Amino acid sequence: MLSAKREWILIAGVMLFMIGLLGTGLALIYSVIIAIGLYAAIKVYVGRKKLKIARDVPEGICVQCGSSISGGKCPHCD
Ligand SMILES: [Zn+2]
Repeated sequence: MLSAKREWILIAGVMLFMIGLLGTGLALIYSVIIAIGLYAAIKVYVGRKKLKIARDVPEGICVQCGSSISGGKCPHCD
């Protein structure tokens, strides 16, 4: 259920961002489009990140540079 909670936090954040845009005098329709675009962008970004982490799980990720570890060593740091 943690992911569902995060989803709501994300939606709440996007809604607040949209209200902020409305506060600047931007038309409602543009505010909604920008908010939806932002939401979609975050979803894609998080999805890709999750995919990358899932792919890297067998060998892990370097704590220093974030590269995937291969053969027990980081290709950048070791
Ligand atoms: Zn590294």
